[in-house]
This record gives sequence, structure tokens and C-alpha cells, in this order.
Amino acid sequence: MTLKTKDEPSGADLDREIDRLSAAGLDALGYSDAELERCARLTLRINRLKKKMNAVIPAHVYQRVEIVHGVADFIGDSYKLAKLCVDTKADRIVFCGVRFMAETAKILNPDKTVYLPAIEAGCSLADSITGDDVRKLKAKHPGLPVVSYINTTADVKAESDVIVTSANASKILRLMFERHPRLIFLPDEWMGRNLARELGKKVGSEIVVWEGKCIVHENFDASSVPLYRKRYPGVKILAHAECSPALVQSVDFVGGTGDMMKYVKDSKARHFMLVTECGLGDLARTEFPDKSFIPMCRLCPYMKATGLEHILKTLESPSRDQLIEVSADVAIRARRSIDRMFELAEGPEPKR
Ligand code: SF4
Repeated sequence: MTLKTKDEPSGADLDREIDRLSAAGLDALGYSDAELERCARLTLRINRLKKKMNAVIPAHVYQRVEIVHGVADFIGDSYKLAKLCVDTKADRIVFCGVRFMAETAKILNPDKTVYLPAIEAGCSLADSITGDDVRKLKAKHPGLPVVSYINTTADVKAESDVIVTSANASKILRLMFERHPRLIFLPDEWMGRNLARELGKKVGSEIVVWEGKCIVHENFDASSVPLYRKRYPGVKILAHAECSPALVQSVDFVGGTGDMMKYVKDSKARHFMLVTECGLGDLARTEFPDKSFIPMCRLCPYMKATGLEHILKTLESPSRDQLIEVSADVAIRARRSIDRMFELAEGPEPKR
């Protein structure tokens, strides 16, 4: 006879959890019965432990669907997650995203314990520049304010004047240009060039850009857009702001993940193509089952590094590597640039 361990769910609990995950859309996305059962066993344990330990699980929209629908307390883009992390009453934050996001959560919550379940979850943009590189840039361009995309390490944020996300970059840059004729934008070159074009500014003489790239968005090919339009008449093509200028100029809408989801929700069109990480398409398929999504996406190995097993391990016996720490000096300076973002993003609109 096999004895049940204390973590073994009853048959009824397991069936209910499998039904919950299926109804949330995992079934429709093709999860097999065995995979659903494996996820359900883990999500039951994670959700029980999370409650017991007063932990909260924020998840970026690019995370695996079983995380988004199985255990996340809130999901969103970088801006929404940063805002929600300010308000949480939990003692522990188990951040399902990549390292710079978990660092941002720690900067905003210095008294809370913040974990990154998959320690290898980095980001090619954040890893493209160090705090030392920013100090050198500032020495080369004295007096220029530094506007940094949120996809940066805590050290880089600490050297910056203001942080932006794809949801508010355009507004904040316009506001910054009301006071400064030139500025530094980092680390995403494509986003910097796209913003320069939108704002009618010149790269080099008005916006100094860093040459960082997102390994997911840098390789989408603009030349295939006309073919898709021919094959799917009426399709709305949406691209993330980290895509190349050539692609951005050929699509119907450009923005961050939150804006893209809003566009889909508000649009009367039936067919969409979301040119970004595949997680957004998976989420859109579960949230808008009546609309169709044509695949043109890539997987981010960093975003997909986290699995339910990592989260369970973090709650049961976290390792030192999973604990996010930011020195007080860096955290104070980085917090200033993040707070400046909140202030500008939620303040008056720029003059047109
Ligand atoms: S999708 Fe790009 S920007 Fe986002 S975490 Fe992955 S590498 Fe970084």
C-alpha cells in the first residue's frame, strides 16, 4: 500500500484544479491531460504555500501560461508590475519574470524579501550595459540627462535621471525635451530610434542612443509583413516598440504589451498578429477566444526559464542565489529615477 504524503492532494482537489486550469485556457492551448495533471499538482502546492507564507507572485505577461493562470496574483507589463509591487502587503515577493524586474521590485520594497525563482533569467538588453558604461557616457556627454528603459540593472538605474517603460517612453521623452535640447536614451537602440522618429528628433545630435538589442525583437523581419497582409486580408499587425524601425513603420500599431492587449480588446477586427514574445499571443488566445491570432512570435529563453518547479522550490527552500539583494546606496539612487518615472507618467501631458 502507498501512503499519501501530506502534500498529496485528494482526488477531488486535483480534479477541481485540473478543471480550473483547463477553463483558464490551458486546454485550448493544447496542454495534454498528463501535462495538466502535472501542472495542477504543482499549482495546488504553490498556492497553499504562498498563502501560508504571505507571499505574492507577480508575473510578466511573457511567462509560461501555467504560471500566469495557475499561480500569479497579478500579471502585467513592466510598468504595471512595478506599480503593483509598491502596493503589496505581502512579506515575500516571488517574482516571475527576469532579473531586472525582480531588482526593481526589491528597490521599491526594501523591507520585503524578494526572490527570482530561475537565477538564469537575465535579459540581453539589461546585460548590454553596466553602471560603469553609463558613467563613461555621462563623462563623454556632460550635462545630458540619462533616460533609461526599465530593462536595466539596478546599477544603471542608479546612474539615470529617469526610467521609462514602453508604455510611457513617448510621453516622458516629450516632457524631457521640453527642458533639454539633447538627452541620452539607453539601452535599446531600436526603441531609441523609433522614439526619435516619432518625436521628430535626430539620433546622435538630439538623442544619443546605446546599441543594446533585445534578442527576441531584433530579428523580426519587416519584409514578410506584405505577405501576411495578402494572406490574411484585414489582419491587424501589432509590433512591440523594441522591434526594428523598418518593421515598426510597416505595422498598424506599435506599443508595449499592455497597449497591445488593449488594442486587441478594443478592436473590431477578427485577425491579429502580435509581433513580440510568444507569451503575449498565448495570453491573448486565452483572454479573447473569439479572435484569431496568427503566429509571428519568438520565445525569450530568459522569460521561459521559470517553471512551476522553480517557484515551488523558492517557497519551500530558497537558495541564496534566488534572493535578490541591492545595496542601500544603489537602491536609493535607483528609486529616485523610478519615482521620477511615476511622477512624469502620471503627471500633466506634454505640450504638443
Ligand atoms: S524579451 Fe527581450 S527585453 Fe524581454 S526579457 Fe527577453 S531579452 Fe529581455
